[in-house]
Amino acid sequence: MAETIMVAGGAGYIGSHMVHQLITDGYDVVIVDNLSTGHRKAVNPQARFYEGDTRDGQFLDEVFTKENITAVIHMDAFSIVPESVQNPLKYFDNNVIGMIKLFEAMQAHAIKYLVFSSTAATFGQPEQSPVGDNSPQKPINPYGESKLMMEQMMKWVDQAYGIKSVALRYFNAAGALADGSIGEDHQPETHLIPIILRTAMGEQDKLKIYGNDYQTPDGTNVRDYVHIIDLAQAHILALKYLQAGNPSDAFNLGSSHGFSVQEILQAARTVTNKEIPAEFAPRRGGDPDILVADSSRAKKVLGWKPQYDNIHDIIQTAWTWKQKHPQGYQDK
Ligand code: NAD
Ligand code: UDP
Repeated sequence: MAETIMVAGGAGYIGSHMVHQLITDGYDVVIVDNLSTGHRKAVNPQARFYEGDTRDGQFLDEVFTKENITAVIHMDAFSIVPESVQNPLKYFDNNVIGMIKLFEAMQAHAIKYLVFSSTAATFGQPEQSPVGDNSPQKPINPYGESKLMMEQMMKWVDQAYGIKSVALRYFNAAGALADGSIGEDHQPETHLIPIILRTAMGEQDKLKIYGNDYQTPDGTNVRDYVHIIDLAQAHILALKYLQAGNPSDAFNLGSSHGFSVQEILQAARTVTNKEIPAEFAPRRGGDPDILVADSSRAKKVLGWKPQYDNIHDIIQTAWTWKQKHPQGYQDK
């Protein structure tokens, strides 16, 4: 019988791709999501969906009682940096308390494995590039701080209750399932690639490039864009790694290639064959100059082999989704 995995946040951008990959690989999937930022239409019909909040211990208890879950993939968090600066308590409440409740329920139901969506935001302004797994973690916003607190909680929960976990720190998640059936639909959208593609569709006049005086070759921020199906596959490898008896760990996930905002814009112009007007605008605030991952440990230890190593291919998948779903899921 297929093993049952819970994906908390499985109606979200990354969660919906995670669920797709698990089902493709033969797993049975339970989704828990309160649809606060996710979409009912992103819920995979082959998974069993429980609508509810991970801060609700009774709700979690009911799901774990009903389902024979062996491991949890935790993707249910708030993740908009400027919102976290304005309203930090919203972030500590949802992200940190959600994880406490999840761990309590996992402990009560003797569930031993967790794979966690962490983030490059736990590193803040890294002193070195690329950023290795053991680089100092000094977040510069409440979102990154909440994720670091969650990583730290994982260590003590392992020590006390034996729940093993892997934190996967994504850099810039990008792209969509290649057939364009699911993709990125955040409200509001703050991420570069979907905003560029929105501009390509004529939904806004110009892309605003936030800052051209950074310490980078062309003055615009450099980021590391990694395809979400590659991210999803890393989670399955992390799960197998834990189930093979390996210790809790944390890994950085990126493509290890940095692209400036202007390079991403140029690549999108090539992919879409559209002009995509752009203008320079003031810095957004809180943006580190360069964030590029050193993912060598994930490749060596987990055996991770990202399939997407070309930024044009990554943008093409997002473009296919955008053309098929110009208004996103349209369920809100
Ligand atoms: P998303 O907002 O699309 O997905 C989050 C999902 O979790 C949504 O479906 C939302 O409804 C659900 N959720 C949130 N709080 C919940 C709660 N208390 N109870 C139940 N469900 C809840 O975000 P995403 O872009 O898919 O990100 C997923 C995870 O990956 C987040 O934890 C985020 O911090 C992390 N991450 C994302 C990126 C990125 O580039 N998108 C990069 C690094 C890390
Ligand atoms: N960016 C931009 N214009 C936009 C959105 C983003 O210039 O409309 C820049 C942003 O300043 C950052 C990069 O694009 O340097 C990637 O931003 P995104 O929000 O996608 O990811 P982040 O790296 O902030 O997690």
